[in-house]
Amino acid sequence: MRVLLAGGAGFIGSHLCDSLLADGHDVTAIDNFITGRRRNVAHLANHPRFTLVERDIVDGVADLKLPVDWLFHLASPASPVGYMQHPFETGLTNTLGTLRLLEYARLRGARFVFTSTSEAYGNPTVHPQPETYFGNVNPVGPRSCYDESKRYGESLTTEFVRQYATDARVVRIFNTYGPRNDPNDGRVIPNFMMSAQRGEPLVIYGDGSQTRSLCYVSDLVAGLRATMETDGLTGEVINLGNSDERTILDLATIIARGFGSQAGFTFVEAREDDPERRCPDLHKARRLLGWQPHVTLEDGLRETMAYFATYEVSRT
Ligand code: NAD
Ligand code: UDP
Repeated sequence: MRVLLAGGAGFIGSHLCDSLLADGHDVTAIDNFITGRRRNVAHLANHPRFTLVERDIVDGVADLKLPVDWLFHLASPASPVGYMQHPFETGLTNTLGTLRLLEYARLRGARFVFTSTSEAYGNPTVHPQPETYFGNVNPVGPRSCYDESKRYGESLTTEFVRQYATDARVVRIFNTYGPRNDPNDGRVIPNFMMSAQRGEPLVIYGDGSQTRSLCYVSDLVAGLRATMETDGLTGEVINLGNSDERTILDLATIIARGFGSQAGFTFVEAREDDPERRCPDLHKARRLLGWQPHVTLEDGLRETMAYFATYEVSRT
């Protein structure tokens, strides 16, 4: 297949490029590098079936006249630090950028996957979160540039299904981690791992009782591919993640132990609107995709620690 992958130089996008290329597909990654890194795709520079296009999707892609059968839309800052630094770019990317990509998919008759987020559920009052839950989002909070624009991206995507019968699907991704996580993007795994290997205390926001359920990147990529490759899913919204829920304090303890860090923890003020609990209900993904995550937290963290242990901090 001819695949367009918006956000292809990002953490998840670059792993998806690798997976698709390994199976013989032609891949064009589109990225403006607002949060992505050239080093994530540097190993693909001479690959005969890989093309990298530097472009802001908000400016549209139609003039590029790129052939496409499958269009994955992963472009968006994703970490709280990243989207709070770029609130307007984030909002525009998930709304106008999504519209531009949907128009292109419609024009070309391509299948489309929009990557939304568990943040669409906000600070959830239902646990675990099924796709039928409408969420509890603060529309004017510090996360709203991301949460609300992803929600509108979902709305646009499903409206293309209703109005034009575009073969589009939405996935709500829950916290994902692994090699190529940006050490500087402020997410919990990179922060904890960078601190632990420097022998510095791990900084915990609040008392650490808040939970997350962490999915290893290879499982997530398999789920994204299954969402694209399975017939008959037009208009479906599907959670992808791992339902192994842990407190942030537990996570900090595992990572500190893994790096042999004796520096302990520093507790600071909780972040505004930080969701207290987050865990995906994965029944629908299992039923529709026959997919479920396989990598345990301990195995995934070991792989990720190996990446961070050899990492030289660089922004390239
Ligand atoms: P990332 O920041 O590493 O990757 C996103 C990529 O999109 C980056 O390379 C960035 O430069 C690019 N991009 C952003 N705006 C763009 C624009 N206007 N035009 C072109 N390129 C643009 O983040 P990630 O963790 O790989 O996330 C990928 C997708 O998955 C995002 O849409 C994110 O919202 C979603 N998601 C990720 C997680 C997670 O835990 N990683 C959780 C929920 C949802
Ligand atoms: N967190 C933390 N210390 C850090 C980074 C994050 O305690 O250095 C906590 C954060 O408050 C949140 C959880 O870890 O409860 C996950 O944060 P992250 O930024 O990775 O993503 P989120 O799930 O909040 O979007």
